[in-house]
Parts: sequence; C-alpha cells; structure tokens
Amino acid sequence: TALTSATSGALERAAEAALRPRRLADFVGQEVVREQLSLVLDAAQARGRAPEHMLLSGPPGLGKTTLAMIIAAELGAPLRITSGPAVQHAGDLAAILSSLEEGEVLFIDEIHRLARPAEEMLYIAMEDFRVDVMVGKGVGATSIPLELPPFTVVGATTRAGLLPAPLRDRFGVVGHLDYYRAEELHRVVLRSAGELGVDIQGGAAAEIASRSRGTPRIANRLLRRVRDWAQVRGTGDLDLDAARAALAMYEVDERGLDRLDRAVLSALCRRFAGGPVGLSTLAVAVGEETETVETMVEPYLVREGFLVRTPRGRAAATAAWEHLGLEAPQGGSG
Ligand code: ATP
Repeated sequence: TALTSATSGALERAAEAALRPRRLADFVGQEVVREQLSLVLDAAQARGRAPEHMLLSGPPGLGKTTLAMIIAAELGAPLRITSGPAVQHAGDLAAILSSLEEGEVLFIDEIHRLARPAEEMLYIAMEDFRVDVMVGKGVGATSIPLELPPFTVVGATTRAGLLPAPLRDRFGVVGHLDYYRAEELHRVVLRSAGELGVDIQGGAAAEIASRSRGTPRIANRLLRRVRDWAQVRGTGDLDLDAARAALAMYEVDERGLDRLDRAVLSALCRRFAGGPVGLSTLAVAVGEETETVETMVEPYLVREGFLVRTPRGRAAATAAWEHLGLEAPQGGSG
C-alpha cells in the first residue's frame, strides 16, 4: 500500500480529532461523570479559582482526552498535554510544571505509568503548588523550591486501581467512564455523520452502534469505513447494506467482537481447554503484549460475559464456546 502505517496512524488521529465534541453539552452519555465535572467547573468559575484536580478512569477510547479538552475549553484556560510514558525523568516534569501559566489545565494521559520520582514530584506540586528544582550536580547539588501558580491536573488512566494512594488522594474528583450503551453510541454516530456532512440511514447507524464494543472511538472509526464502502463499492448511500458489508470486511462480528477478541476466546477454548490460564500466557498465545490484552480486550469480554477472571487465571464462559460454535465441556466454568 502507498500509506505507511505511521502515516495512516496520523491520518486516523486527525480524523478522530475532527470528530471531538468541544463542549460538555455536546458530549454524549456518561451522565454521572458529566454532572460531577460540571459541578466542579461551575463552582470554580463562581469562585474565580482554578478547579480541583480531576482523575478520569476507564477503558481506552471512551473520551478521557476529549473530556480534558472540554474542561479546558469550558474554563477558557490553556491546555498542556503530556503522558506518563512521555515523562521519562522527574526533570522533564519539573520543566513542564515550572512553565505552567496561571489556571492552566495539565492533562496527563496514562498517569499510572509515571516513574516513581516524577509521581512524587507531581503530588507535591498538586498539593502545595511547589516544585523543587535541582541546581548543580553531585555533592554541590541543591534544591531550590519554586512556587507554582494555581493550575489543574486532569489525569487519565485505564486502571484507577493502579494509582498509588498518595497520588489518587490528591484528586478532588475521580470520575469513572464506562462502556456506552448502544442507544448512546447511536447518538455519537449520528452526531459524527453530521460533522462529516454525510447522510446516514437510521438502520445503518444502529448497526454501527451495536457493533462498536461500547466505544465511541470504534463507532467513529467504523462510521468512516462504512462511508468509504458506500462511496467506493456501494451506491453512495450509507444504508444497512453498506454498514453490514463494511463491518464484514473489517471482521467485526454481530456482537462487535473483532479479530483479536475472537483470537483470545479461541486460544482460551481451543488451546487451553477453556482455562483457567494466566493472562500473560494467553497474551503470548495470540502474539500480543499482556497490557494490550488486559486493557483493550479483556474488559469488554468480561463485561459481555464471554470471559471470567478467577483466582487461578482467565476462563471461558459458556457464551464464549457458543459464540465460537463450539461444544462447551460438561461442568464448565460458567
Ligand atoms: P485514550 O485513553 O485511548 O486516549 P480516550 O478515552 O482519551 O482514549 P478520546 O480520544 O477522548 O478517548 O475519544 C476517542 C474518540 O471518540 C474521539 O474521536 C471522540 O470524538 C469520540 N468520543 C469519545 N467520547 C465521546 C462522546 N461522549 N461523545 C461523542 N464523541 C465521543
């Protein structure tokens, strides 16, 4: 193909960015988190102060980055974006912190992956609005405390439980994003189609919504693929036929499971006789990183009742055998 994967990745990100809602009122679903954030933002604005730090947790693609951008937009504040893995050394974080403007929103994606020294520096900064900057090297090194203007950290994590308590406790709001209902994703698809300037039939939007693993990012991606299919292979109409054909081409099944989801279930049932088997063994069997399986694949399979977590590892539920068209063993695990 003409596109390198890096280019197509960048194009996908640009397409995704174009579909981001910009205000809280345009953000579909997640009523609980929306109410929590809205209260904190309104209170902060009424007091004319920077709001408390906010932590957003939940599986990838549910809108954490989007919400961070919305928070800054609602406050009319500048936004700085970084991530746990991008901050290699505490010094990198000190540089970011010491250059923050008053009221700035600092978004830290994958905050659970910050290195320990950076994490400690962060929670002091969050609590006392101070950072200790090291000057000099070796025995002559001294630390100089630097006062920071008030700012707001918005942290995002796929696993709030992984955050050490001292850091977690510095957040005034901890919002948990959960998978979207099909009806909510339906609204996301209709909204995105409007932004893309394309007409989509209700049946096609419903089909995409029900097969998007509860995830707006996936719904938007499938919408773009259905549009491609309709334009290039179909009649130009985004109808149910186009939706079904495009979804079949991208190997998304009726339950919304993709190739990797099915590979995991298949390995579990066929190679490990339904388990229980350790997560890392399962990941190796499908040729993926443990973290990918743990954050991207497993939560949805658990929630849909295909996979169960047991103290001795992951096991296939009856629904997994049925979905693969296999006979579940007698006395199976679910
Ligand atoms: P990650 O943690 O992997 O970065 P994320 O949770 O930050 O994922 P976003 O990048 O914010 O996810 O959202 C992914 C896409 O889904 C964006 O294009 C965004 O426009 C869309 N989206 C997410 N949530 C909503 C929503 N509630 N309403 C409409 N669109 C949404």
